[in-house]
Amino acid sequence: MALTCIAMASKRQIFVGGVPIGGGAPVVVQTMTKTETANLEATMEQIRTVADAGSDLVRVAVPRDKDVEALKVIVKDSPIPVIADIHFNHTLALKAIEAGAHCIRLNPGNIGGREKVAEVAERATNAGTPMRIGVNSGSLPKHLHELEREEPVEALVTAAVEFVELMEDLSFENFKVSIKSTNVPNTIAANRLLSERIPYPLHLGITEAGTKWSGSLKSSVGLGTLLADGIGDTIRISLSTFHAEEEVKVAWEILKALQIRERGPVLIACPTCGRLQFDMDTVVAEIEERLERYTEPIEVAVLGCAVNGIGEASHADFGITGALNEGLIFAHGKPLRKVPQDDLVDALFEEIEKSFGKGGKVEFDEAESAEGAEWLQRIEDENADDLTPEKLAAMEAEAAGEGEDITAPGETKGRRVELGEDASPTAGRRFTRA
Ligand code: SF4
Repeated sequence: MALTCIAMASKRQIFVGGVPIGGGAPVVVQTMTKTETANLEATMEQIRTVADAGSDLVRVAVPRDKDVEALKVIVKDSPIPVIADIHFNHTLALKAIEAGAHCIRLNPGNIGGREKVAEVAERATNAGTPMRIGVNSGSLPKHLHELEREEPVEALVTAAVEFVELMEDLSFENFKVSIKSTNVPNTIAANRLLSERIPYPLHLGITEAGTKWSGSLKSSVGLGTLLADGIGDTIRISLSTFHAEEEVKVAWEILKALQIRERGPVLIACPTCGRLQFDMDTVVAEIEERLERYTEPIEVAVLGCAVNGIGEASHADFGITGALNEGLIFAHGKPLRKVPQDDLVDALFEEIEKSFGKGGKVEFDEAESAEGAEWLQRIEDENADDLTPEKLAAMEAEAAGEGEDITAPGETKGRRVELGEDASPTAGRRFTRA
């Protein structure tokens, strides 16, 4: 697979450590350690874990002097650039810059007034340290509270723009900006608006998104929508888990799903149905876990039955499909070999390893491949009359190709539907056939 990077929207670029953010650079993945920063051993262990998982940057909380002391060591030992997270105490921001932090995160609204922000900006300028500035929905300045009640999105954007103007007024432009809200639609709307008003890189996140399950979904919807629009230069997924690497994995899955960046394997699996003939839940979980060891961007497919042949998985680099006692391993749409059901996963990884040993080339044993193809054909023939989800999808696609339009009026496949002032997503919607 070729490496894909989509250039993002912000015009300005900053560097955190050696990592470019904005100005067309690949979207940067970051996370935050969950340890007490002063606990050097635990913090460094978590930083190494998130770096291994693919985090480009890491943020650490610096709420006390003892955290600054630890920060001095962390910035030297960390394999990735370190951002110091400061709230309320500008002195800590000054000390974090001195400690060598690669970036300072602070909200100008809670640091104690213009003079203190100016002092931090001056010190950051002298040290060449960039900042992340921003606003959170829960802590807007007082003069915007009324606007927040009536127009929360406008209030968030106004606050962010005011902070941007303050920094510009202080002749400090080495920053990225974030607008954080627990509300997904407001986060999307606010970032869309902000990206039109300022040229600086944008940091995307959903505040307190939730547990691994709900938080990942909320973040995928919110951040995915913005990234698909070309908005956002760095992302952090906030999850209620001590394992910061989980945040990194979710961030990568979002980027991989949008084909914005590639890292490691992509697993595709059928949704299963009544034709499933083996314990696919267990098999998929095992494959997913074993794939985590690889950094190569291979695509691996798992099909719950062989009724449809290799079908929609034919583009995958490798795949398996199973029947009652047997299964088939295939590569690039061609059978590799038939194996007993219990050996499917091990045999799949044997083949993957073998191909890595040959620089990614897959070698087919023609006799084994022919035996696999014959087995596959027999299962397809035996089930030729089955209306599987894949066959139904193919029939729908064929019907669409023949001119049957089953999309709603005003809807364009693959694009966001723009609704007029009077329209709601459901009002007046009816499905027609041309
Ligand atoms: S018919 Fe399709 S969805 Fe059902 S088990 Fe087979 S491959 Fe999976």
